[in-house]
Formats: sequence, C-alpha cells, structure tokens
Amino acid sequence: NTPLIRVENLQKYFPVMQGILLQRQVAAIKAVDGVTFNIQRGETLSLVGESGCGKSTTGRMILQLSRPTGGTIYFENTDLTRLNEKELHPFRRRMQMIFQDPYSSLNPRMTVGKIISEPLIIHQLANAKIAQNRVKELLGLVGLNSDAINRYPHEFSGGQQQRIGIARALAMNPDFIVCDEPIAALDVSIQAQVINLMQNLQQNLGLTYLFIAHDLSVVRHISDRVAVMYLGKIVELSDRVSLYENPLHPYTQALLSAVPIPDPELEAKRQRILLTGEVPSPVNPPTGCRFCSRCPYVFEQCRVEEPLLKDIGSNHSVACHLI
Ligand code: SF4
Ligand code: MG
Repeated sequence: NTPLIRVENLQKYFPVMQGILLQRQVAAIKAVDGVTFNIQRGETLSLVGESGCGKSTTGRMILQLSRPTGGTIYFENTDLTRLNEKELHPFRRRMQMIFQDPYSSLNPRMTVGKIISEPLIIHQLANAKIAQNRVKELLGLVGLNSDAINRYPHEFSGGQQQRIGIARALAMNPDFIVCDEPIAALDVSIQAQVINLMQNLQQNLGLTYLFIAHDLSVVRHISDRVAVMYLGKIVELSDRVSLYENPLHPYTQALLSAVPIPDPELEAKRQRILLTGEVPSPVNPPTGCRFCSRCPYVFEQCRVEEPLLKDIGSNHSVACHLI
C-alpha cells in the first residue's frame, strides 16, 4: 500500500545573521529539522505543537508553497522536491489548503461564485457556464444555499466563510488537503459543525488530510494518527487511541494535561504538568534533547545526546531517553 504522502527527513533552514560588527556570522533557523512521516489515502494525520514548532512550514512544504532545504516529499511515487514549476502543475491541482482565518483568505471584492470558481478558471478546467454549475454543486456540498453565489464574503458569518474556503479547496477535486488550524479563528459553538462537515466530506469524497492544530483537544475526534512536534522535530507519533490513553513523551503529557476535562470531578483530581521556561529559539536549539530546558524529568544524558524517534510497537514512536 503506497502512502499518498511520504515525507522523509524534511528540513527547512533559514539563514540569519548573528553577532555584532566584526563577529557577525551566518547561522541557521532550523524551522523544520529532519521530519519523517507518511499519510495513507483516506487518513487524517494531525500535526500538533506550540506556535513556531514548524507545523505550518511542514504543511506548506508538502504543498510546495515553500521549498524544503533538505529531504524528500513523495506524492504517491513522485518526489515533488525534484520537479520544476511546470512539472508540479498537475500535482498542484490535487493538493489544496484550508486556511486558519477564512475572511482574510477570501478576496473581499469578489463574489462567492467568483472565489470558488477561480481555481477552475485559472487551470482552464471549465468555461463560465460549467463553472457556475460546479459552484452550485460545491455550495451544496458544504451546506450553503446556492444564492450565496452572487454575494460577498463579508455578508457571511465566520463559520459560513470557512465553508466557502472549503468549497474553494474542493473545486478541483483534490486528493489531499492541508488544513492549517481551520477552526482556530471560529466561535467554539460552531467549531464542531465545521469539524463534522470536514469529516463527512472526507468520507464522501475520499479525501486525505494533514490537520494542523496547536492543541490536542481540537484534533481528538478527527485524527487517525497524531504527530506531536517540538522545535522542528517530531517527538511522538502514534495512532490516536494510544496517544490519548498512553502519552509517553513528557511534552505530549504536558500538552494533554492542559486539555480541559468536561467532568468537574475528574477535572479537580487530575494532575497538571506545568511547563516552565520559554520555548527556546530555533536558531540555537538546545543540544541533546530539544525539550531538555523545559522537561520536568530531564537528566544528564538528555543534555548531551539527542533522543531519536524510536518505534515501540503498536504504531507508536517516541523520542525520549526515558522510553
Ligand atoms: Fe525529557 Fe530527557 Fe526525555 Fe528529553 S530525553 S523528554 S529531556 S526525559
Ligand atoms: Mg501556524
């Protein structure tokens, strides 16, 4: 079974100048530093971590919106990192993105009909009449009335705007969608509706998702597997059940302990792991384990030796010297 997406040792380094005057030298921001995972067709892999950990950069690199500085990205059997812009063209149709802030991702001067049909027109896949019918079909798929076609983005609520963004992403019948915190900007009351819609669309259209989020509560129901990222690296990768029931990396445990429990009795009893210290800079990440400056269990080896992602069976890998 060839995975739809296979990412191997992916890297994104940005050069920066450091130091003063004569001691200035080039250093590298290691935004993504050796990330490996695959996504099976029809699967949802979630990428979770604090802002700046490299999760959006990873998603953008898979879509080739940002070119990696190292590593490979296979779409089925094609390494996208070796293709030029012309060769990428057919793949661009098959990969789309849903953005965090629906309003700013929609052109306020275009009607909803124009916004949704724009990709079809750009890729010359439809004339105006066929595009119009396709837009109506897409509006139906995302639960919007077809009279939306002649209205403008500001006339809609945040949740409806995100449905418009989803319809646009679906216009070209993609296989793969990067969902970059698609509900983070929405009212809590409508987050579940948008998640449900995305799950239904996935089932009906056979979509594959990379779902990016900064906390573990959001992705609980939508994920098949979850990868937890810290400072440019994956620290734990597991199927959903095993991750939520048996989180093994201290960072995952801390993230999970911050997820509120609805039952007040359980909430009062549970232990919180509070992380002290700031997220270190990705310019000079700590040597050894990158989490060592904040880990409650840090010991000597952690500061000198980098823990590698270790397969511990049952579809679960962890990078920690304690495991
Ligand atoms: Fe903590 Fe050490 Fe494990 Fe890193 S390797 S998470 S510092 S115990
Ligand atoms: Mg981001």
